[in-house]
Amino acid sequence: MVDTIQDYLRSVRVQFGAAIRHTIRAEVDRLGCKRALVLSTPQQSDAACLIAQDLGSLAAGVFSKAAMHTPVDVTEEGVAHARETDADCVVAIGGGSTTGLGKAIAYRTDLPQIVIPTTYAGSEATPILGQTENAVKTTLTDPKVLPEVILYDPELVVTLPVDMTVTSALNAMAHAAEALYATGRTSETDALAQEGLRAMVQGLPGVLEAPDDLAAREATLRGAWACGTVLGQVGMALHHKLCHTLGGSFDLPHAQTHAVVLPHAIAYNARAAATELQPICDLLGGRNAGAALHQFAQRMFAPLALRDFGLKESDLDRAAELATTKPYTNPQPVTREDIRELLQAAWAGDAPKH
Ligand code: NAD
Repeated sequence: MVDTIQDYLRSVRVQFGAAIRHTIRAEVDRLGCKRALVLSTPQQSDAACLIAQDLGSLAAGVFSKAAMHTPVDVTEEGVAHARETDADCVVAIGGGSTTGLGKAIAYRTDLPQIVIPTTYAGSEATPILGQTENAVKTTLTDPKVLPEVILYDPELVVTLPVDMTVTSALNAMAHAAEALYATGRTSETDALAQEGLRAMVQGLPGVLEAPDDLAAREATLRGAWACGTVLGQVGMALHHKLCHTLGGSFDLPHAQTHAVVLPHAIAYNARAAATELQPICDLLGGRNAGAALHQFAQRMFAPLALRDFGLKESDLDRAAELATTKPYTNPQPVTREDIRELLQAAWAGDAPKH
């Protein structure tokens, strides 16, 4: 059972370093496994084949059908493939979509997982699994889905396009920002959240200036690990609930949605949690954490409007309704009218209202 960050750190092996992916054979061997099934999206099948090459005789095969929001039919095909190839572990190389497939296979088979992340989404550090079936996204938390090994190789993140680098980094920062006022927070989660935010705020400008700067990429990967780790340790609130609704019910892209919504959700909650959110102001300047994040997003050329991702203005009433049906703990009380107003500003690309 993983109850605290210390328990988590004891149960997971986390390695950082350029070219660390080439140690994959030794890592599989260390787990006592002999047949690793390599997972990726179709777009990253070449990277998966290179990992299979490094694995040599320890490779059971490559399954390159991972997709956003972990569709259950793809998982079932992956489980069947793991059984057919007699796999005894999975190696997921990619972003949150591929990590999600590995977790979903592990949830059903108990196979150990090695994750080689290529985005900043942070899923590899959480015991959380989101899955989609019949257009409905549900989330479960189970220590069984927590990967055994994470290999953070900055060489792999170099190929992440600049726009995706920015949105993925803001997705990571969203985990840490909400952790600052989350239920279940501790002094340890506060410290880790601040470490993650600092790494992203300080590292991202350098990455944008020189996307192939391995030191800057590794610094931001360390930030992503810290942000992902706190996400797995505390209860999330308004920001994550809104993004879950927008992704699950309106099929909006994950990282981009997080990037747009973050300043608005944080501004909304700053009314009730200004003290908790002060570390964001300390890092970015200004007196309102939401406004500070909005200005940071602008400086990083992040997308600012949900309408740019296919959400229609006529969807906003239903989005506000869906996002407020189930009650949850949030610093600022959540009302349908307030959330409708928040969504209007996020849809139009306006500065946060509150
Ligand atoms: P993603 O994994 O869907 O990747 C987006 C696209 O970028 C894909 O086509 C992928 O192949 C490509 N890509 C990834 N890394 C690349 C690289 N280095 N170079 C070139 N192309 C690359 O996107 P994501 O934002 O990382 O993950 C989103 C998914 O992760 C969502 O389904 C979300 O729900 C899930 N998620 C889960 C958790 C959790 O704790 N359970 C946390 C965060 C995200």
